[in-house]
Order: sequence, then C-alpha cells, then structure tokens
Amino acid sequence: MDHSGRLRRLQAALPENKLDLLLVTHLANVRYLCGFTGSAGALLVRERGATFFTDGRYIAQARAEISGAQIVIARKAPFLTAAESLAGSRTGKVGKQVFGFEGETMPVAMRDRMAALLKSKVKLRCAPPLVERARMVKDAEEIASIRRAVELGARLFPILRKKIRPGASEVEVAGALEYAARCGGAEGMSFPTIIASGKRSAVVHGRASGAPIPRRGFVVCDFGVILAGYCSDRTRTVHVGRPSRDARKMYEAVLEAQQAAIACIHPGVTAGEVDGAARRVLRKWKLARYFSHSTGHGLGLEIHEAPRLAAAQKQRLEPGMVITVEPGAYIPGKWGVRIEDVVVVTPNGCEVLAPRDKELIVI
Ligand code: ZN
Ligand code: ZN
Repeated sequence: MDHSGRLRRLQAALPENKLDLLLVTHLANVRYLCGFTGSAGALLVRERGATFFTDGRYIAQARAEISGAQIVIARKAPFLTAAESLAGSRTGKVGKQVFGFEGETMPVAMRDRMAALLKSKVKLRCAPPLVERARMVKDAEEIASIRRAVELGARLFPILRKKIRPGASEVEVAGALEYAARCGGAEGMSFPTIIASGKRSAVVHGRASGAPIPRRGFVVCDFGVILAGYCSDRTRTVHVGRPSRDARKMYEAVLEAQQAAIACIHPGVTAGEVDGAARRVLRKWKLARYFSHSTGHGLGLEIHEAPRLAAAQKQRLEPGMVITVEPGAYIPGKWGVRIEDVVVVTPNGCEVLAPRDKELIVI
C-alpha cells in the first residue's frame, strides 16, 4: 500500500486547512497512513515528518509494519505521550501552533486530558475529516483487496443455501457461515452476521438469534468478511417454502429498485440522486414508506465509510469510490427483503462486484 504517498498528501493539506499538526487517533486512519494494524497507536503528523506513538505491546509489530514515521514507545496512552511531546517541545513557535485532533472519533475525556496537558501552549482545534475524505477514493491496490474480500463473501452463499432449513436456528446458520469465512482466510466478520427469518425479516438489523427458521417466509442474510484488512458486505434474501404472489412481487420490487440505483451510478452523479433512483421504484410499488434506511454506504478498511447514499446527500461520486447499494422494504409483523452488492465507481459508470445469486431463491 502507498503509505508514503498518503502521508505526503495529508501533509500537503495541513497548511490549506490552517493546521500545523494533526494528531491521528482513529485506528483505521492510522492504518491507512502508516500501515500499523495494532489496537493502540497515534500518529502525529507535521508538515515535515510524522511520529508514531504506541505502547510496549507493539514494539516488534510497529517496527515491522510502520513506514514513513519515527516510532516512539509510550509508557502512557499513546495520544497523551504525543501531546506531552508537544508540551515539552522547546521550539519558540509552539505558542502559535494550531494542533488539530480528530473530533469525529476522539472521546471528550481524551480531548479534555490533552487540553489540560497542553494548556495555552498550542491552539487545539477539531480538524475536518481529512483522512476520511482521502479514504473515500480507493487506489487500485485497495480495490483489488476489496474485490478479494467480496469474492470470499460471495463464495459463502452456497453454505447459506445448504444450512437454511425450517427448524434450524438463525445462529446455527450464522455459525456455519462464519466458520467457512474463517476457513477461507477471513480475519473476522465485518459486523455481526444478520440472519433474520420469517417475521424477523422485517427487522432491518436482525442479528442472528436463537429463533428457529419457520417453514415458510423470507430469510434476510446480510454478512461481510474482513480479508487483509478490507471489508465486504452483501445481502441476499431467500424464501423458505413456496412464495406467495405477494412475496414474489415484494422481491421483484426491491430487485428493481436495486438495479435502478446501480444503473444511475457514474462519476458526477450525487449520492442523493442514487438514493432517489431506488426510492422512486419503491414508490411506484407503493413500498417507499417501508424503505426505512439509506440506499448505501462507502466501505473499505471500515464497514461504514463516506460517502453515504441517502436523500439530499450532495457528495458527487468519483471513480475509485466503493459503495454498497442495498435498498430494502420491511413490513412490520409480516416480512422484509433486502438485496445488497458492493459497487466500484469507474470512469465510465460502475462495476458490480460478484453480482450473482440475485433471482429469488426458493429453499
Ligand atoms: Zn450489509
Ligand atoms: Zn451495507
């Protein structure tokens, strides 16, 4: 991964954002910038140079993984040691320096401890989400990693088809899926697997429960793996037993909504327009009021990243953005359907990764 290029671009962005320093504490951002995959670390970025702070557990790992930053092993929390290094710094300029922190993710208590330590030495400022913005557009290596993660996720679907049976519990199905994911090389799941059957299919985030799969009805299966640090995300909805005409219609409507959203993805379109395309189809089917979430989200090192595909989102899509497209409709107490794919925005339009198993599958 091009860590040095990413760090260079961030350093170049500091002056135009009126920052002398930026303390990167969100671990996914730290990983993106310098390659560190551990659970405790902070990266202090200056216009020239960067210093990485971690604790004693990560001495060997930091040396093996980090490129482009000096490494400091901290006795206290890495972010505090980073702040202390500034408090103790003797450069005459310190008083004027603007010190940015990642306010979107930094806990208030952490911010307060830093402020107490730095007192009037620097000007603390909540920085704009510079690293998140950079992460929105993936490079070729990242897209290749996401592609591999999505392929692994897609290969798990036959397990679901085999395991979903009336009477089997949702957690049992999720367990088989997750075991197969691990055997396929996954470091973990991107989020707790959703297996929501029967009436539970109307619960948008219906984590697999002990409930048995009923003899007849939809089963929403939403799952993702983490492979080499990158997430996949995929939803397929199957039907157990013979689907009624209504059930078929419901499935057809959601599939049509998903295809309409995918069809309008190209560079320059806004995230809100893609969301609108899905919603328009569901309105036609009189299901719009049952579509209670946004149409999709970016993904990469994290399962939910910018941009968000939701009403009124002005962010324009660019080549290299990787987003999910996942409309759904959920009728409380009755049933729900969602279909989700990962889509890469290309210079001419988009590419859907592993777009298979989308016709209504009856088990
Ligand atoms: Zn999902
Ligand atoms: Zn998703």
